[in-house]
Amino acid sequence: MFIKNSYNLICIKNSRYWLFFFTSKPNIHSHFLGINSMFRFYETTLLEQFVEDLYKKHGVLTPQQLNTEELSRRLNVWVYYSELGSEAVEIKSGLGSINIYKNQSRVRQWIDFLHELCHILRHSGDQRIMPEQYTKAQESEADNFVLYAAMPISMISQLRLPVRKNDAIHFLASIFNVPLYLAKRRLEQIQHRLCQGMLLTETVAQVEDK
Ligand SMILES: [Zn+2]
Repeated sequence: MFIKNSYNLICIKNSRYWLFFFTSKPNIHSHFLGINSMFRFYETTLLEQFVEDLYKKHGVLTPQQLNTEELSRRLNVWVYYSELGSEAVEIKSGLGSINIYKNQSRVRQWIDFLHELCHILRHSGDQRIMPEQYTKAQESEADNFVLYAAMPISMISQLRLPVRKNDAIHFLASIFNVPLYLAKRRLEQIQHRLCQGMLLTETVAQVEDK
C-alpha cells in the first residue's frame, strides 16, 4: 500500500515494514518515523470505545492489570475453572459467571475469559436456541472484543513500538501476554486504521479547500 497526502507524508506498507516519510524537501531531509507518531489518525470503533470506557470506569489503566484475576475482580464477574468448555452464564442483569476450560495455557485461558466477558457484558439470549446469523454476529463481536480488551489502544499508544513489524508483533505479545497471532492481527488492524484515518483527514482537507 502506498499513500501520499498533502502533509507531504508518504506511507508505505509491505509484508515486513510500515514506513512513514515526510517529504517536505524531497530527497534532502526525508526521514523515517515509526508508527507512534501516527496515533492521532487512529479512530476507535464503537466496540473499541466501549472497552476503553469500561477500563477507564474500573481503573484498568496498565498492561499489568490485564489478567483474568484482576479484571474479574474489578468487574465483579465470577470465574470457575473446569474441564468443561469455556462459556459465560448470566446469573442476573449485571452479574455473570464465566467457566474457563482449565486444560489449556494461562494465555489461552485469558483469551477465553475476554471472549466470554464480551458475551456477559453485551449479549443476551441463549445461543443454543438462537438463529445461526445472530450466533455468528455475537461470536464475531466477541472475537473483536478480545483484540480491543487484550491490547487497548490507550495502552498501546503509550508504548514505544519497534519500527520493524516483526519486532513490534513480538513486543506487543510480550507486553500484553497474548499469542503472536493475536498481536499480529492487532498490529495490522491498527496499521489499517491509521491509513484509513490519514485518508479521511486528507479527504476532509481537500473538501474544505474547495
Ligand atoms: Zn462465544
